[in-house]
Amino acid sequence: MSRQVFINGNLLSEAEATVSVFDHGLLYGDGVFEGIRVYSGNAFLLQEHVERLYESALAIRLQIPITQQEMTSAVNRTVSANGITDGYVRLVVTRGVGTLGLDMRRTKDPQVIIIADTITMYPQELYENGMELVTASTVRNHPGALSPRIKSLNYLNNILAKAEGTDAGSVEALMLNHNGEVAECTGDNIFIVRNGILKTPPSGAGILEGITRAAVMRLAHKEGITVLETSLERHDIFTADECFLTGTAAEVIAVVSLDSRTIGTGRPGPITQRLQTGFRALTQGT
Ligand code: PMP
Repeated sequence: MSRQVFINGNLLSEAEATVSVFDHGLLYGDGVFEGIRVYSGNAFLLQEHVERLYESALAIRLQIPITQQEMTSAVNRTVSANGITDGYVRLVVTRGVGTLGLDMRRTKDPQVIIIADTITMYPQELYENGMELVTASTVRNHPGALSPRIKSLNYLNNILAKAEGTDAGSVEALMLNHNGEVAECTGDNIFIVRNGILKTPPSGAGILEGITRAAVMRLAHKEGITVLETSLERHDIFTADECFLTGTAAEVIAVVSLDSRTIGTGRPGPITQRLQTGFRALTQGT
């Protein structure tokens, strides 16, 4: 069965759901997006994702033509129309059709697009044994140029870093910021555990403030694990007891080496596993 795509208030077949070649989303990557997981028919942490979408839009001076409440209903409608029980939702808002110039005042009709699909996750083997990570030479966007807090359609920074990971045989790549500190991975946030304390780079390190990251931090608090948002260097990862990534698609996944150097025991660690289990329970609503 063909997918039903939500576009500007209508559910259309995949073939009918199209945008103009003059849309600034296409011409300039001018727009914002979200990725949301569906577990047992429910869009997980939907409110948080919708809020981040509107915040990203505000940051790029893009007015989304529907309310957050309408957006939430539209996501739920699209998920049910496609009969998705476990899958993924992509929310996209483009700047709309404009001239061939950059002027946003000469654009109109931002396009609101919702796609509900199945999900491709990292290979199961990586969830069992942990992943090997490499550091990309591509530096994360300088926050003064394009804030990594904005989930914009302009993802080339991450795409180029991801290609470096792929070239090295890794499914992810670590990105450093312009100060050489650890920022995040191309589509996931990073955590380490050292002496029982959980550490992750702060927002000011130039990261997307992941919704999974926030959920895992809340979970750790509940479990009595100390969490610190603190600047990290690659040194801290090399000398960590445990390391893991978080993301909507990845959930919680262990990292067992960085640039061929083993982290901790080289196996997913006990705190990582505890948080993995706790996170899975959250997604199942248990
Ligand atoms: N960092 C980047 C650059 C991302 O694109 C994402 C989302 N895939 C994340 C971190 C993780 O964020 P979330 O937990 O909200 O999916």
